[in-house]
Amino acid sequence: MEKIYDIIIIGGGTAGMTAAIYGCRLGKRILIVEKNFFGGQIISTSEIENYPAFSSASGYAFATELHSQIEALNAEQVTDEVTSLQKEATSGCWRVICKKRLYSARAVIIASGTESRKLGLVGEDKLLGHGISHCATCDGALYKNRTVAVVGGGNTALEEALYLSLLCKKVYLIHRRSVFTGDLSLQHRIYDTDNIQLLLNSRIVALHGKDRLQSVELCACGQSSGKPSKENSNADSGCTANNDTKRNAAGASDNRLPAENMSSRQLENTGSNQLGNAINHSTEKLEIDALFVAIGQIPQNQPFADAVSLDPHGYIVAGENCHTNAPGVFAAGDCRTKDLRQLVTAASDGAVAATEAIKYLR
Ligand code: NAP
Repeated sequence: MEKIYDIIIIGGGTAGMTAAIYGCRLGKRILIVEKNFFGGQIISTSEIENYPAFSSASGYAFATELHSQIEALNAEQVTDEVTSLQKEATSGCWRVICKKRLYSARAVIIASGTESRKLGLVGEDKLLGHGISHCATCDGALYKNRTVAVVGGGNTALEEALYLSLLCKKVYLIHRRSVFTGDLSLQHRIYDTDNIQLLLNSRIVALHGKDRLQSVELCACGQSSGKPSKENSNADSGCTANNDTKRNAAGASDNRLPAENMSSRQLENTGSNQLGNAINHSTEKLEIDALFVAIGQIPQNQPFADAVSLDPHGYIVAGENCHTNAPGVFAAGDCRTKDLRQLVTAASDGAVAATEAIKYLR
């Protein structure tokens, strides 16, 4: 006879494993389905400094400890990839259809997380693992004393650049705007790090290298260059330095340090003196040993698109109680609509989603 779980949790990251802790401790039959490895994105974080009571912990250690916790609670685990989620009309159970087999449960928690966004350039997939990486903590050591670049302007890019600056001879930080969106404290550390060179208002338009990445081609996209041409556009380009300038003038984004606030050293580094003519001319080659792409995340929610509502960016529409529009289906962690995607909010969501799922089962 087909086994029916109380709750199937899709995703073995922080949100999913926390949901499992709460479900198991209340005696529910839990199955966690994970397509890759348990731990999720936190595994690739070198140091967690903003989780309550942990002033410093490695992401790997955190994930390993969390996984041991769910193993001790005997949560059932399976490695499989979910392809769709369907409601069984007669039983009212949810069918979690995976590549290898299908599983049924009375309630489902989706904690599918996000995946790293790509630049959308020719050759990017082929060069991934051959000079292109999405994880400095995983691959940084391969480029000890070498010259690398990080692309992006959010917290991830700033953290990756700082981490790499400890290992590499030189780190270029390439960002398509004139200001970063990452935390001010990280921005200050970036400005104070001698071997990080900022290349602002710059966009990567091509990757060069046959079997390994050898260089990237940069295009200026500051105020002087106006809008990028269609041919040079990335999948999600938006060289919007003009918008940034307006936002700073209006003081709307108080965590953004405009270039005027940088130290004189960083301003020098940002200018054309360090990188030939990259900022002034249309395109320029930058020779590097590796490129770390840190340009945000894409939610992994396509398998659930027919079962629950997604917002225009692909996140599952769910509020702080983690309820989706489908009764019995809950969304936890980075995969749902929310303002703050952090380790602490993922753990919080896991607890909330499990508690709400258990209420639903009564
Ligand atoms: P993010 O905050 O969404 O930033 C993405 C960055 O990449 C932006 O600077 C964006 O530029 C740029 N970008 C996007 N598409 C691009 C493209 N096609 N080409 C070039 N640049 C592109 O992503 P994230 O840094 O990965 O952070 C994700 C979430 O995790 C955030 O909420 C962040 O705060 C959180 N996080 C927190 C910590 C921490 O607290 N320690 C660490 C890591 C991440 P535009 O601004 O021009 O779009």
